[in-house]
Amino acid sequence: MPHANELLTELGSALVRGSLTDASLLAQTSQSPSVPILPEANVVKVGGQSMIDRGKAAVFPLLDELVDNLSRHQMIIGTGAGTRARHAYSVGMDLGLPTGVLSVLGTFVSMQNARMLHYLLAKHGIPFIEPIQFPQLPLYLAERKAVIFFGMPPYTFWQQNPTVGRIPPHRTDTGSYLVSECFGTRSMIYVKDEDGLYTADPKKDKNAKFIPRITTQELKEKDLGDVVIERAVLDLMENAQHSRQVQIINGLVPGNLTRALAGEAVGTVITAD
Ligand code: ADP
Ligand code: MG
Repeated sequence: MPHANELLTELGSALVRGSLTDASLLAQTSQSPSVPILPEANVVKVGGQSMIDRGKAAVFPLLDELVDNLSRHQMIIGTGAGTRARHAYSVGMDLGLPTGVLSVLGTFVSMQNARMLHYLLAKHGIPFIEPIQFPQLPLYLAERKAVIFFGMPPYTFWQQNPTVGRIPPHRTDTGSYLVSECFGTRSMIYVKDEDGLYTADPKKDKNAKFIPRITTQELKEKDLGDVVIERAVLDLMENAQHSRQVQIINGLVPGNLTRALAGEAVGTVITAD
């Protein structure tokens, strides 16, 4: 019988013997590339406040467009939380509840939005999946081409505190992004109500300039007062193995989602390189 160590790779025996906080050992763990698990799938995050809260005027045309694309594209559809989550956060903060509990509240609001989109798409056989059902995701994509999930990362009260204030820093943009990164999907598309990233919030500053393409580094250097996606996504992108590009499109403009799914640079493209 071989000695146990003979069964291990060089890295394997270094890891078994070594410390997982040893910087030089950790550096060796990136030697083998990470596998893209669902390279044909696209993660599409539908904004909470920016899309779903606008009701049928915004949601119905977008859902029609999603359905039109089912014959061509696999979609993992995440939902935002939006206005009701902001209300819940404000009540929770008034009551003195910590970030982790606010994160629980936001999770249930993004779940409400996922349920609503799911029932509207039910006749197309598109399931809503909870985190525990993600192992079935490949089957659903193969069979029905799309699933809906709630965008919040499911770590609820294990959520980290923000640097400033009390709002959970990892919300639905981040949860959706982490799905795209882990599964190595073909794209990460944010569907919102503006054409993309501007130099300032275009709802507040009429002189805000549109930015069609930018890197995370350039964006950090600009130090904008507000941005169109959660800042946590920009941080996570820098260490990404797969999802080193995200796209923000205006879902109120018919055809934009179809163009983005086709690989067109509609809206703003943010890259980590
Ligand atoms: P979601 O509905 O997906 O949660 P949010 O409402 O959180 O989306 O974020 C999108 C909003 O961000 C836009 O509607 C826009 O008003 C705002 N925003 C803030 N800063 C910017 C910016 N620099 N460029 C574009 N939009 C911005
Ligand atoms: Mg948001």
